[in-house]
Amino acid sequence: MFVVEDEPSIRQGLCDVLTFRGYRVSASSNGREALETALREGFDLVVLDVMLPELDGFALCSALRKAGRDVPILMLTAKGAEEDVLRGFESGADDYVTKPFSVRELVARVHAMLKRARKLDSASFRIGPFEVHPDRGSARSDAGEIELSAREIQILRLLAEEPGRIVSRRTLLREVWNMNNVEHVETRTVDMHIAKLRKKLGADGARYLSTVRGQGYRWADSRR
Ligand code: CA
Repeated sequence: MFVVEDEPSIRQGLCDVLTFRGYRVSASSNGREALETALREGFDLVVLDVMLPELDGFALCSALRKAGRDVPILMLTAKGAEEDVLRGFESGADDYVTKPFSVRELVARVHAMLKRARKLDSASFRIGPFEVHPDRGSARSDAGEIELSAREIQILRLLAEEPGRIVSRRTLLREVWNMNNVEHVETRTVDMHIAKLRKKLGADGARYLSTVRGQGYRWADSRR
């Protein structure tokens, strides 16, 4: 696990509590150095502060995703900065906690993220014309192979479990984002991810994945 935080007391506190919980922890206080380290070493999770010297958390997160790293990233955002949450998700972060955070909440998030990441290793599944391979991070159809993020695979898995039924944004946030207290900014996050996923799936995305206004999303039941 990799903790990137320039505030010494918070960094040390995070390292102490995560080490105490049995995780092996490395730390960095500089954005640019942290990016180099994260690209060089395979961490199972990154706890990432937003405001950092040389390279901020958003840029670091984007750079990791651009380099093809799908390591789970938990962002530490400032209280009251909702736009930071959205920007974090846009940069490719998987989850966030707001500063000042409770240690219990942070540990719970870390634990859930790691559990989710492991769950993703499970077997492939079918949805519409696609055979989804979580281990490869892709889906295959007659039209070819499409690369998918871990989050997109989770969304498809959820839709595959409910063919023909409406899956609400709230359900998506709870099951895919692990969020129970839904805020406006977060439902926009779901819409953004769905739009991107639909685009990736091309003509089949438009055909199967529909928006049910004011309610959520539905994957067309292929038996009909
Ligand atoms: Ca900072």
